[in-house]
Amino acid sequence: MIIKQNLWLQILIGMALGALLGFGLSSNGLALVPQSTALTTGSWLAILGAVFLGLIGMVIIPLIIASIILGINASRDIGFVKRIGLRLVLYFLATSFIAILIGIGYTEIIKPGAMTNIQTASVAIDVSANAAPTLPMRIKNLIPANPLKAAVDIDLIKVVIFSIFIGFAVLTLPSKLMSGFMDFTNAIQSISLKIIEWAMMIAPLAVFGLIADMVIKLGVDAFIGLGWYVFCVLAGLLTIIAMYLLIVTFIAKRNPIEFLSNIRAVQLLAFSTSSSAATMPFTMQAAEERLNIPPAISRFVVPLGATINMDGTGMYQAVAAVFLCQFFGIELTFVETLLLAFTCVGASIGTPSTPGIGIVVLAAVVADLGVPAAGIGMILGVDRILDMCRTTVNVTGDLTACTVMDRWMNKKTIGTSLI
Ligand code: ASP
Repeated sequence: MIIKQNLWLQILIGMALGALLGFGLSSNGLALVPQSTALTTGSWLAILGAVFLGLIGMVIIPLIIASIILGINASRDIGFVKRIGLRLVLYFLATSFIAILIGIGYTEIIKPGAMTNIQTASVAIDVSANAAPTLPMRIKNLIPANPLKAAVDIDLIKVVIFSIFIGFAVLTLPSKLMSGFMDFTNAIQSISLKIIEWAMMIAPLAVFGLIADMVIKLGVDAFIGLGWYVFCVLAGLLTIIAMYLLIVTFIAKRNPIEFLSNIRAVQLLAFSTSSSAATMPFTMQAAEERLNIPPAISRFVVPLGATINMDGTGMYQAVAAVFLCQFFGIELTFVETLLLAFTCVGASIGTPSTPGIGIVVLAAVVADLGVPAAGIGMILGVDRILDMCRTTVNVTGDLTACTVMDRWMNKKTIGTSLI
């Protein structure tokens, strides 16, 4: 079994030790060593995380392709796949929209933009809004005309769309003709999971390195100036978690405390890696082994959810957009705010599930609203920690979706456990 009983505790210890060491060495913390030594130590420690993420990155593309094809074909029932597909997309859209409204609500009530006083001129601009493609361009680009290029570029949403097409084609062709291909796909999945199992062995160490490096590099000053903005994002994320627990209790009819305790290791991994994609193999395992979700559901919902279901990211993008409009004195009418909410739903779907990318997509959203590019530079300083938090919410959302689909599909599913 890959996910060990006490893995969450090991990861938590790794995080705590990493944070402690980081605080001890950082020039913003105890500054026990000169800043250059602290930064060099951080880069060395980050190697632990790089090995972990590298092993996962090595197999993430074949794993996503194999999982989706096997997920679609686990029931060998086209009616089932259509039903779950439709429900899932509607569920994803509805929860994303609610999450975004929560974010806009907090930002409109608290008005962090009016309470923030930072000199934008002194802020370095690392993300160019002009470099980000516009939203219609992103939507047009979704069809993977060149799947190999999509795989090489690790363009996950295109890889998912490609895999769904292949999965459906396999489903509609005679099983006898497809048996060789299915055996091959099964083998690809097993090989990928074996490598993930090796990565898992160093997860607590990787987390230790990632967190220590982050704390060493992160400045605390940025947080003080942007305190209200950070507060709005965190309040929004906590509210979304509360919404998930209500969904788990009342729609999926499960015990929310048990749900949380079964997924804590995955949440900690999402927090430490800031990547729904890197966490995906563990999300899938937790769904099957801890939440008893049938593979026909988990192998379909998790890879898809990890790529397009990002309530945390959508909410964050909405908060940031409204905050920046407030800060730069751009008035948004009711209709414009509603349009912004829809744009954020689209933006969260199009945001790749990798670290720090939400802010790049945000750059395109706020550029359309007339926010100067300096605005993105301004919030960049606090983005890393917010990214960790929103990724935790994104992954929790995928597991919540699994429990809901399990309930809605009435467990009429076939399939074997992953490991
Ligand atoms: N890091 C996020 C994720 O992987 C995406 C983002 O919001 O930057 O879910």
